[in-house]
Parts: sequence; C-alpha cells; structure tokens
Amino acid sequence: MSLDLPSTGCRSTPVLKERGQREVFCGLTGIIWLHRKMQDAFFLVVGSRTCAHLLQAAAGVMIFAEPRFGTAILEEKDLAGLADANAELDREVARLLARRPDIKQLFLVGSCPSEVIKLDLARAAERLSSVHSPHVRVYNYSGSGIETTFTQGEDACLAAMVPTLPASTARELLIVGAMPDVVEDQCLSLLTAMGIGPVRMLPARRAGDLPAVGANTVFALVQPFLGDTHAALTRRGARHLAAPFPFGEEGTTAWLRAIADEFGVSRDLFEQVTAAPRARALKAIATQSQELRGKSVFFFPDSQLEIPLARFLTRECGMTAIEVGTPYLHEGLVGPDLDLLPQGPVISEGQDVEKQLDRQRAARPDLTVCGLGLANPLEAEGFSTKWAIELVFTPVHFYEQAGDLAGLFSRPLRRRALLNKEAAE
Ligand code: SF4
Repeated sequence: MSLDLPSTGCRSTPVLKERGQREVFCGLTGIIWLHRKMQDAFFLVVGSRTCAHLLQAAAGVMIFAEPRFGTAILEEKDLAGLADANAELDREVARLLARRPDIKQLFLVGSCPSEVIKLDLARAAERLSSVHSPHVRVYNYSGSGIETTFTQGEDACLAAMVPTLPASTARELLIVGAMPDVVEDQCLSLLTAMGIGPVRMLPARRAGDLPAVGANTVFALVQPFLGDTHAALTRRGARHLAAPFPFGEEGTTAWLRAIADEFGVSRDLFEQVTAAPRARALKAIATQSQELRGKSVFFFPDSQLEIPLARFLTRECGMTAIEVGTPYLHEGLVGPDLDLLPQGPVISEGQDVEKQLDRQRAARPDLTVCGLGLANPLEAEGFSTKWAIELVFTPVHFYEQAGDLAGLFSRPLRRRALLNKEAAE
C-alpha cells in the first residue's frame, strides 16, 4: 500500500507550453540597470540606429555624467559586407578607451543586426582584450531580440563574466544578480549581523571587487532569470543554494534562512536579526495590499519574475492567480517558489500571444501583468494593467521594499477605481 498525499504547491502542476508570436523587449534593456551598477564598465552595443534609439529612449539623456553605454552603428556598407566591420570596431574601441581611462570593463553587446551579418564578437572581445589588457577587460554577450526576453540581457552579461573570474578555494558566499546599491547594502547588513562573511557580489560595483570562485563557493541568486549564469557558476564548481526569491516578507525570510542554515546560524540569532525588519515588512504589506485582497491577477510572460511574484501576491497579499505565464520555466531556480504557490492557476511557459489574450479576456482578471506592448490596448479595453518592466527598474527586493512591491500592484487598481468613479459621475 502506498500513501498518495496531495501536493499543496504548483511544482507538479502540468505546464502549458506554448510557442508562437511573442510580445517582449530585447536584452539590450538590461544595459540600463547594469551600467548604473557597474561603475567602471562601458556597454558598447554593436547594432543599428534602432538599437541606439531603444537605449536612449529607455535610459533618458544623461546630462551630468559621461555616458557609460553607446552604440557602434552598423551602416549600410557594413551590413552589405562592403566594409571590414572588425577593423572599424577596433578603431572605435581604441578611440573610446583613449578618451575614457576610467573604463576598466568593456562589454561588446551583440544585437539583431550584428548577429544577422554574423559579426563574431567573441573573437573581437578576445582580440581587443589582448590589446587593451591589463587596463581593460573586454567581454561580449548578446542582447539581441532574436528569441530573447529583456531580462536575458543581464543573464548573458553575468554568464560572460563567470569564466574569467579568478579561481579560489575559500568558502565564501556569492550573491548573484544586480540590485540597486541601497538594496544591496540592506542585504549585506542582514547577512553581516548574522556573522556571515565575507560576502561577494556579482556583478561587483567595480572591476577590482570582482569575486573569485571555486568548489567552496556557495551562491544565492536574487533574480530568477539567471539560468545561464547559474549554469556557468556550476561549471566552475560553485554550489547553488535553492530558495524562494527575496520578494516580500516570506520570500526574504526563506531566502535568508537557506543561507543562514548553510552557514550554521542559530535560530535565535536569525530571529534576533530579522524580527524587526520582518515586522516592518508585514505592516507595510498589510497597508499596501488592502486593495489587492480578494482580487485576481493574470501574468503574461515577460520579466521571468512571474512565478515568485505570483507566490508573493497570492500568499502575502490575498490575491488569486488565474494564469502565471513565464517565458522560461527553470525548475532548479523557481522550484521553491512553485512549492509555495497555491494550486489553482494555469502555469504556462512560452507564448502564443493571441491564444493567451483570448484566455485573459475570458477570465477578466482584476489585474493583468504584461509588457508595454499589451498594456495600452488592454487598458483601452477596460483592464487594469501593470507593466512588468517596472519590476526590474524599481527596488523591490528584501524587507524594506516589500510594501513598495505590493504598492506597485495596488496602484493600477486604485487608478482604475478612480477612473470608473469619474466616468460614473
Ligand atoms: S537588438 Fe534587435 S530588437 Fe533590440 S533594438 Fe536592436 S534591432 Fe531591435
């Protein structure tokens, strides 16, 4: 006789896999938050005027600082194979580095056009690294919109750095994923108060602070979209600490608990360090989630944050998830969040946008989380929407941001209620 106990989470829920037309931004978008984080890095997109416009529009114009990203524009003659794009790239890079001695890390970022003409940026990075080292390290990764979603840009960037990190046998904790400095400092202060250290970060703020890695490195991810970086670190012998992602009070506590257990922190000390920020987070969530309780939410696949956020909204804010769509479902990363997500929603991977829109319209959710391209038409149809991209531009991790995270979802509902009231008057 065997006992068949029902699972309470969604880990074993069958996944609806879809392939079709998608509505997503490209991986170049990641440059916007990565260039703010890595203070001596420069991101050189090798692309078209469209790529340059996307970056300018997303980043705004910087007036006071020297820019830390730019586009080497492939002109007609490059695209037609009439010019030696490699020679031109070498020349542009030499000019840039001569003018900007503050640059210590240079990322050559591939785009749709550079991939279409098969410009080998991996070889270019190797060649340029040997010319400009040791002052500058040159990396390459792809931010192209061919088969990607926008958060893959950060993943590709960090994964490109991993093979070049120095080797180490030290037992160290590595935190992986870009966070605003203020949030990173909160994370480090909680870990330090538990006696855990030294703690390394990837990405580091400066090239000189890059971590070393080896078989005694344990790493925790703060973003669920870092599948390639996870694989690259695992290849270097490092071990991943799987845990729910640090969104909301529950996610943050579970994430910290996994690290604390690994480093032998006592329950008492853990309680002592986390009690006050936990209480603050719970209070802030309770205030911000009043409009969310009893409401339904539908996620289109976009940021790859969908599963951890559905867990937060259902368990901590009282919402019901109808469908949780994600571009890619990496069970090794989001498995612990799936375990906690109450059964009920459709879990979908990939996208066939017309079919998904049909499901969304039939379900009439109170809140729809989606990309910019879908948000405006859905708003015009009377749906409340949240732009998924805001979730990566806004500080949302850890206890002190938990209330703001709930607030990001309650604001569109409040706005819709006001609009409906005005229309009724
Ligand atoms: S990389 Fe591709 S999708 Fe992104 S802006 Fe350039 S051309 Fe457009």
